[in-house]
Amino acid sequence: MSSFTDLNLSPPVLRAIEKAGYTEPTQIQAEAIPIALEGRDIIGASQTGTGKTAAFALPVISQMIPGEKPQCLILEPTRELAAQVEDQMRLFGFYRPMNVVLLHGGVGYGNQTDGLSRKPDVIIATPGRLIDHLEQGNLDLSEIKYLILDEVDRMLDMGFLPDVKKIVDRCPQERQTLFFSATMPGAIQTLAQWALKEPAEIECGGRRSPAETVSHCFYPVAMDQRDELIEELVERTDFQSLMIFTRTKKEADSLYERMKSKEKAKATVLHSDIKQSDRTKALAGFRSGEFNMIIATDVAARGLDVSGVTHVINYRVPENPEDYVHRIGRTGRAQQEGDAFTLLSADELDYAKSVEFYVGQKIERKKLDNFDYTFTTLLQENAKPLRARRPPPKRRR
Ligand code: AMP
Repeated sequence: MSSFTDLNLSPPVLRAIEKAGYTEPTQIQAEAIPIALEGRDIIGASQTGTGKTAAFALPVISQMIPGEKPQCLILEPTRELAAQVEDQMRLFGFYRPMNVVLLHGGVGYGNQTDGLSRKPDVIIATPGRLIDHLEQGNLDLSEIKYLILDEVDRMLDMGFLPDVKKIVDRCPQERQTLFFSATMPGAIQTLAQWALKEPAEIECGGRRSPAETVSHCFYPVAMDQRDELIEELVERTDFQSLMIFTRTKKEADSLYERMKSKEKAKATVLHSDIKQSDRTKALAGFRSGEFNMIIATDVAARGLDVSGVTHVINYRVPENPEDYVHRIGRTGRAQQEGDAFTLLSADELDYAKSVEFYVGQKIERKKLDNFDYTFTTLLQENAKPLRARRPPPKRRR
């Protein structure tokens, strides 16, 4: 394994790495940093939790020239991810002061417009709000030297493709582009071919497999016993910090109501209908340990780096297998052990099979001892998926 000092990073960045307490580069950092420092474009397939942020932040900060503004643009799919990347940019730029502005929706324009008028070196933005600022003439991207497109698959999932294209179009042709996506379906490859020049391809840690430090299993349960089972699981699990993922905002809210009254749970909730200031408080409180449980929809929580998460529970099997890997990837980060449980009901058996196919392994089914299960065929081996009922034939008039 190489050391950071072998990577040709600038002295202020090396000092910041020391301050951050990193002793050696992760695999993606060791691979991406030398290539990025050569000025080449990169297409990186890497899960969150692998040190991807530092893999692009360190070489960019190392190369930035004071005075040319704005020179770096980082696009992120969600506000929370953008804020997280901002924290890391500030951390790694500690000894190389620079002006960073964060642009995302859900808050007023005033502070952001002020920030832009102060000529930032680095802009971290979600695509929708950046487009708003561009349309209002608040910024000009013609000086951008480093363009980072992060979590591209999620930006596309969220319908940002046209915005991303518009933004890339407003950046100069002469630039370095670093492009990261956990998955690389056809639409992403097409975008990459258009946005990148002869990129070096990096694939780290296997796109598909959950971190090895996570143990994960399914808990089959009848649909109407989900809530009871999750309560029991929470009751019996010795967690320090637990993230629960739901498919919908309504599920998140109703679970939050249930968990609030539990003595061991200091719970908070995160989804897109919650005010931005409360979302920020929820996350900050979870990070600081004020809350030991956060109940979140996947969209709100994807890619968030919260260190020390000991457990993840999926209230439902994710519809996209990649989401499964992302979610459970939140435990077992930075080599800590983590446990991830997924509740599985009969209507989700097909999703469970695609998760297993995607991660290339059969996921163990577990049964909670002394839990008063009502009958579910899922508790038997080789259960068949519950097929949707055929619609009744149309009546002739
Ligand atoms: P990321 O994949 O960028 O979200 O990073 C995941 C977590 O790993 C973050 O908490 C980082 O601070 C941490 N991290 C990144 N690189 C290193 C490193 N080289 N050594 C130790 N921790 C790291």
